[in-house]
Amino acid sequence: MSIDLIALADAVRTMASRCNRCGMCQAVCPVYKATGVEGDSARGKLALMVALDEKLTDDPKETLARLNRCTLCGGCQASCPRGVATVDAFLMARKALADAASLSRTRRALLRKAFANPRRTATLAAGLASVQRRLSSATSEEDRVSLTGGYPVPKITRPFFIAHHTPQEPTVPGPEVILFAGCLVDKAYPFVGEGLVDLLTQAGARVHVPKDQGCCGIPFLAEGGDADFVIGVKHHLALFESIAFDYVVTPCATCTHTLKHLWPRVKEGLSDAEGRLVDRISEVVCDGSDLLARLGDPLEAPSSETGLTITVHDPCHSRHSLKNTGEVRGLLEAAGHTLVEMESVCCGLGGSFGVKHRDLSRTIGEVCLQRIEATGADVVVTTCPGCMAQIEALLKGSESKIRVRHAVEILSK
Ligand code: SF4
Ligand code: SF4
Repeated sequence: MSIDLIALADAVRTMASRCNRCGMCQAVCPVYKATGVEGDSARGKLALMVALDEKLTDDPKETLARLNRCTLCGGCQASCPRGVATVDAFLMARKALADAASLSRTRRALLRKAFANPRRTATLAAGLASVQRRLSSATSEEDRVSLTGGYPVPKITRPFFIAHHTPQEPTVPGPEVILFAGCLVDKAYPFVGEGLVDLLTQAGARVHVPKDQGCCGIPFLAEGGDADFVIGVKHHLALFESIAFDYVVTPCATCTHTLKHLWPRVKEGLSDAEGRLVDRISEVVCDGSDLLARLGDPLEAPSSETGLTITVHDPCHSRHSLKNTGEVRGLLEAAGHTLVEMESVCCGLGGSFGVKHRDLSRTIGEVCLQRIEATGADVVVTTCPGCMAQIEALLKGSESKIRVRHAVEILSK
């Protein structure tokens, strides 16, 4: 085992040792709630990691598989009375285990080929769109996700957002804003990107959409691919460095969480100027709805529909990390809609978790769907395109007439 891996295993053990096994994290863990298996809770995973050095040589694949049964929602970290940085420990352990497991090396190589290069991602997505067009009949506005082998795959029906974006001049003077679109909005939900630019411009912001932006990088971290994550962060720092920005906004709670809390983890290998830039981004990045709420009343133009009864699905990263669940509600109410609350719960997607553990992901999601349906709302609104795809896929199997929309779709014309 390399010295790096031994040091990493030591650091993880130190973090995991802080756990006093109180079990409070079980109450918030969507995976534990679905399975009742101790090993699926944060406490169970930390118990595994206390002996991470042995696991690295004994059975890294099996240990990694057990650790991967986690949506990385951050609920355990937010609720732990001992302040155990559970998600940080999980990510570090995944890196160590992935380095020790050849299967994961193969998967990471594929991930790198597929997603690390924004141009290659665009080519792959264009290929997927062409296959989708050949396989499916015309897509209605209400049918935006296909179920391919049971997996939710958003239909790509419009030109990608970033490549086709045309800069707009603000009508009133305001802040300079970089829009980080994220993969799903760029490729599958470009109308969300366009709507957010319109709303921000209306509110006086000058919105910059740097070409050639790509993935926020969380899929690499989740697969233990820290080196690829660093490459992605540096790529975006180079894109942003020439722009004098006041804010960075994203239309995705997970992207916002990643830029705010995970990009600053990259310090080794950055120049001083890059280090300052990553800190500056972390300081000012926020969800699109947060900035709209901060800029005052941007919603003079009527929203696409009025007088809806809406329930809000809060993405896990909004609840546990960004703690910004009030802003979107304020905007929706100001736009004349009636809110009905649902009991917050994870939708079950969790990025690659929803692909690798599809049955478990659906089990978690069914609880979310029941709570949405119980509200009797017309529309369930969220601020995460991943949650949107998962909820639409769940709705396909139900009798419910409820629709799922990104907040931007409801707020923009
Ligand atoms: S809440 Fe914290 S201290 Fe308690 S069992 Fe979970 S990780 Fe350990
Ligand atoms: S991050 Fe979420 S899914 Fe993972 S162990 Fe913690 S509460 Fe459970």
